[in-house]
Amino acid sequence: MNASKVLDDLKRRFPNEPEYHQAVEEVLSTIEDEYNKHPEFDKANLIERLCIPDRVFQFRVTWMDDKGNIQTNMGYRIQHNNVIGPYKGGLRFHSSVNLSILKFLAFEQTFKNSLTTLPMGGAKGGSDFSPRGKSNAEVMRFVQSFMLELWKHIGPDQDVPAGDIGVGGREIGFMFGMYKKLCKEFTGTFTGKGREYGGSLIRPEATGYGNIYFLMEMLKTKGTDLKGKVCTVSGSGNVAQYTIEKVLELGGKVVTCSDSDGYVYDPDGIDSEKLAYIMELKNVYRGRIREYAEKYGCKYVEGAKPWGEKCDIALPSATQNELNGDHAKTLVANGCIAVSEGANMPSTPEAIKVFQDAKILYAPGKAANAGGVSVSGLEMSQNSIRLSWSTEEVDAKLKSIMQNIHEACVKYGTEADGYVNYVKGANVAGFMKVANAMMAQGIV
Ligand code: NDP
Repeated sequence: MNASKVLDDLKRRFPNEPEYHQAVEEVLSTIEDEYNKHPEFDKANLIERLCIPDRVFQFRVTWMDDKGNIQTNMGYRIQHNNVIGPYKGGLRFHSSVNLSILKFLAFEQTFKNSLTTLPMGGAKGGSDFSPRGKSNAEVMRFVQSFMLELWKHIGPDQDVPAGDIGVGGREIGFMFGMYKKLCKEFTGTFTGKGREYGGSLIRPEATGYGNIYFLMEMLKTKGTDLKGKVCTVSGSGNVAQYTIEKVLELGGKVVTCSDSDGYVYDPDGIDSEKLAYIMELKNVYRGRIREYAEKYGCKYVEGAKPWGEKCDIALPSATQNELNGDHAKTLVANGCIAVSEGANMPSTPEAIKVFQDAKILYAPGKAANAGGVSVSGLEMSQNSIRLSWSTEEVDAKLKSIMQNIHEACVKYGTEADGYVNYVKGANVAGFMKVANAMMAQGIV
C-alpha cells in the first residue's frame, strides 16, 4: 500500500469530506508497515474496500414544530463494515452533522468495535436536527418521522444503533417505541435503552467509566494512579458526566467542564454534589453550563476551551477537533502527563504530534472510549438470551475489556525506546482482525 496514493484517490472521489479524510489518514499512516507485510492484502485491494463504507442511506425528514411550521432535516445511516458482526454505532443529532462527520465516525467505529473483542461491525448515523431548545413533543415528532425511514435498514442481526451527541435515553426511548410499532417485533435493535425495556445496567456510565479504566491502565505503566491528580474535562453531557464521577471515585479532582458556549473553571473541584447539579441541569432542565458558574461563584469563559487551565490529566469529552496544536503545547508546558479521549477524534493531528513528541501518555478515542460500545455489545448479548446481568457483572466485564484493549495497544504500539504509541497500537490491533475476517470471507 502506498498510503498517500490511497488517500489522494479518496480525496478525489469524495471531495469536501475533511473529517473523513483526517480519520482515514491517521489509520493509514499507522498501519502501512504492518499492511505491507501481507502482500495478499494488497492483492485483494483490502485497503480501498475497508476505507469506503458498504453503503450510505440519506433521506429527508419532515416534521411539524409546536407552532405548526413544517421543518425539514436530513437523516443518514452509514453502514461501514459488517465482517465481524452486525453493523453497530450511534446516532448523532446535532446541527453540524453531515456526511463527512458521519463517515469518519463510522470508519473509526469499525476499528473500535474490533478492539472490543465483541462481534460488532461498524456504523454511524444521525441528523442535522438539534434537540437543543426543542420541546419533548417536537423531539418526539422529529424522531418518529426519522424512524419512518430508518427502520427499514436496521434490525437485531442487521444494524443496531445507539446514542451519541444529542441522542440520550429520551431519544432512544422514542426511537425504540416507533421502531417496535413499525416492525411489529420486540427485539434488541437499539442499545442504550431504558432499564425497563431491555437496557443494560452501566450502559449510561460505560463510556466515561471505560475511559477512566483505560487511563488507570496507562497510569499504571508509569507507576502512578489518579489520587490527587488534577483533571480538566470538556463537555458536560453523557461522557463527561460519568468521566467526572469515576475520577472522583478514584481520588482525582476535576476542575473544568464545558458546553458548546464555553467552559467553567472551579479550582475547588467538582464534587459529587456539584456533579449531581450538572446532571440535573443537563439531563432534566437542559440548561447551559454558564449556570454552574453562577450557582457556585466560579469562573466562566465564553467561547473558549478548557485546555489553558493547568492540569495533570486532560479528558476531552465533547466533540471532534476540540483540542488543537496550540492547546496541546499549552497542556504539555503546564505539566500534563496524560490525555485520554472520551470523545471521538477530539485532538487534531497537530495536537497528537505534540503529545507524542513530548512522549506523554496519549490514548485515542478509538481505544479509550470503546467502553460505551462494549457495554452496548453486552446489552445485545443480554437481549439475545433474554436475561439481564447485575451492575457488578457488567462493570467487571467492562473493566476487563478496557484492560484487554490496553494490552492490545501495548502489544502493537510499543516502540523501540519503550514509548507506547497508543494510536498505532489501537489501529493495528483493530485493523488486523477486520482484515483477516475480510480475507476469509472472499471478495464481497
Ligand atoms: P452529549 O450530547 O451527551 O454531550 C455532548 C457535550 O459536548 C455537550 O456538553 C455539548 O454541549 C458538547 N458539544 C457538542 N458539540 C460541541 C461543539 N461543536 N463544540 C463544543 N462543545 C460541543 O454527547 P456524548 O457525551 O454522548 O458524546 C460526547 C463525545 O463522546 C462525542 O464525540 C461522541 O461521539 C463520543 N462518544 C460517545 C459515546 C456514548 O456512549 N455516548 C461513546 C463513544 C464516544 P451542548 O450541550 O452545548 O451541545
